[in-house]
Amino acid sequence: MPRRCKYCGKPAIIHLRYANLSLCEEHFKQYYENRIRKILEKHKVRGDILVAVSGGKDSMSLLYALKRLSLMMDINPYAFHINLGIGEYSEMSESIVRSFSRDIRITLILYNIKEELGFTIPEIVMSTKRPPCAVCGIIKRWIINKVAYESGFEYVATGHNIDDASTYFLKALMTQDIYSILRGQHEFLQPKMEVRLVGRIRPQFYLSERENMLYAQLNNIPVVERPCPYSASAPIHRYKAAWDTLLDINPISQINLTRTLLRLGRMINIKEPELRACKICGYPTESRDSICAFCRLLRKTTTNR
Ligand code: SF4
Ligand code: ZN
Ligand code: ZN
Repeated sequence: MPRRCKYCGKPAIIHLRYANLSLCEEHFKQYYENRIRKILEKHKVRGDILVAVSGGKDSMSLLYALKRLSLMMDINPYAFHINLGIGEYSEMSESIVRSFSRDIRITLILYNIKEELGFTIPEIVMSTKRPPCAVCGIIKRWIINKVAYESGFEYVATGHNIDDASTYFLKALMTQDIYSILRGQHEFLQPKMEVRLVGRIRPQFYLSERENMLYAQLNNIPVVERPCPYSASAPIHRYKAAWDTLLDINPISQINLTRTLLRLGRMINIKEPELRACKICGYPTESRDSICAFCRLLRKTTTNR
């Protein structure tokens, strides 16, 4: 027998196994936006929010949901996109983010790393000989924090989801990375403006890629179809694929693993690392020599030239 929506009895378009919940189109959209709203309310995030948008389904859905929620909540989302200079992939991403932000009337802040920093991701990957996603992650985190801080934002929202958080933990468990397990992945990180660190909110933390994709499809949200050419080589994607089997056995296993390890982190309560100002760029770092990961990377580039 076809499943029916729990709230109105219409034919369901999705069955969320982790919640044993069937929903029609309208109630799925409501459920999705409510989950996002609750995280913002729980952490009292209000006012201007800079939303980091890559052009993928997660961040584009987040931007759209925040725009809709801004009609009923005291939030004001701005889109932020970094053109990473990864050939056609970056050109397509920028163009989709540009047109979508214009269509839904959201101010877009664009950052082109070739113009601002003088190199593209492929160029810096070549000269540092480090894994592309590790390099790209360091650069993106630094840029997002710097731009948000300099533009006066207290919070940045990113499209991290439960697939990302649970895969981070799975990888940390598989590689005995105890420090990463205890530090965790969080739905919210407080701003520390005194050390130039902007707060982080991940409103889709307990939503899955599948839910983000469905929300994008139902709202005709355009997304970059082509993956980043570096994504296939990232080990994290292979760990992600392992979840298909585990979720088949236990549909709530991703959420349970994430919650368990976050709880464990709170029980052990490791001391928060002290943040110092990087002596090169002035942005915060945990490093004892007061040189942040971004500036260390740039230094490596110049020595390798
Ligand atoms: Fe950057 Fe890797 Fe993502 Fe490509 S897949 S955008 S290189 S983090
Ligand atoms: Zn319904
Ligand atoms: Zn620095």
